[in-house]
Amino acid sequence: MFMKYICERRRLYLMPIACAFAGSALLMLGTLSSYPQWYLCNAGHLINYNDAIIFYFFRNIMMATLFVASVILFKFRRHDMHTRNIHSWILFAVITFTASMITLSWFYSSSSSLLSVNFIDNLTYAFTPLWRDIIGWSLVAMWCAALIILIFISRLRNIFWYSGGFFCVCFIVTLAVLLSSDHSAGYTWYQARFIETVSTLFLIFVLLCDVFNLYRKSHDKYLDSYQNSIRDPLTRLYNRSYFYDTLTQQLPGTTAARPLSVIVSDLDRFKRINDQYGHLQGDKVIQFVSGVLQNAVRDKDVAARIGGEEFAVLLTNTSATEALNVAERIRQTICQQAPQSSDGQLPEPVTISMGVFTATAYDLSAEECVQRADQAMYAAKEAGRNRVVVWQ
Ligand code: GH3
Ligand code: MG
Ligand code: MG
Repeated sequence: MFMKYICERRRLYLMPIACAFAGSALLMLGTLSSYPQWYLCNAGHLINYNDAIIFYFFRNIMMATLFVASVILFKFRRHDMHTRNIHSWILFAVITFTASMITLSWFYSSSSSLLSVNFIDNLTYAFTPLWRDIIGWSLVAMWCAALIILIFISRLRNIFWYSGGFFCVCFIVTLAVLLSSDHSAGYTWYQARFIETVSTLFLIFVLLCDVFNLYRKSHDKYLDSYQNSIRDPLTRLYNRSYFYDTLTQQLPGTTAARPLSVIVSDLDRFKRINDQYGHLQGDKVIQFVSGVLQNAVRDKDVAARIGGEEFAVLLTNTSATEALNVAERIRQTICQQAPQSSDGQLPEPVTISMGVFTATAYDLSAEECVQRADQAMYAAKEAGRNRVVVWQ
């Protein structure tokens, strides 16, 4: 919970519960020290039951109060209380309260002679009237109030608050079990402990699920933003930098037996399409051509938009002849489309000029490879457009 708060400061409401459990663990140490030989069987006569129930009493007060504080902070989580100053004060109050509960319980226990209270008679193991008639029922009332506040404010809107409610109910049942017996020795105490442990484990389980959920969401977001960083938003083809990065990575493995081909292409007379039909229609043309490019290449190839209406394709392990065939297929698919066959995406047939360069050794940089394919593409433009030229 503390780590979740560190990651997201608006989850300040988790801190009281974190303190409740941290304080509860410390008070549990107090309870364990009341059982000096708890790991030995038949060591009942050594148990200081009164100390154990004093720690238990303070644990109840501390947890119920901090649960209520948590649900109140949850209610105000969207208000502008998220300044460093206010957070510091709230954290200070929560930690001070937890520490004072621990200190008070220590003072009341037999460890200190400063204060004392008797909830159990250590000779007869019987609960005193103070516990049976006042304290026990007051704790039940306090947990009932905490439960009502929790339900009322959180409206049990997620499993976290459900588990909080379940936790309150478990404490009420625990106290009811304790109040049902006149003596602390015997099974009652252990039954009460069992219910409390189950509720704590359930809350821990819910928190772990929450952490897992958080991890899954952040992983999905990471995958999303990674895809956005390597893809062009208009066409969803890869972007220029991804194209160059992949080319740079693949070039070192290039040999005559494993050639690498680059196709650079540019739509013909595209300014006219924009001028005549508007930029929105121009964008649709670009999207349509991108779809053709994407469908024409294998999964391992990289089809990218490297400029306004300029595209590049990286074909791994592809010879010049094969790359020429791929480019020719793309060119023909594009120039054969009409407004009807393109579902209105092309306002009129368009053509594309393409240049192919094939690297057969690792002796050029990525920029030089693209430059050569670009030169071939300009040769295609000069030769009358709507054609494929292979770099010589
Ligand atoms: P050429 O045959 O010589 O290539 O002629 P062209 O008109 O296609 O000339 P050029 O390639 O230089 O023109 C590119 C035009 O593409 C210029 C710009 O208005 C347009 N353009 C660039 N990016 C976009 C875009 O994202 N959307 C749209 N609709 N148009 C774009
Ligand atoms: Mg053009
Ligand atoms: Mg251009």
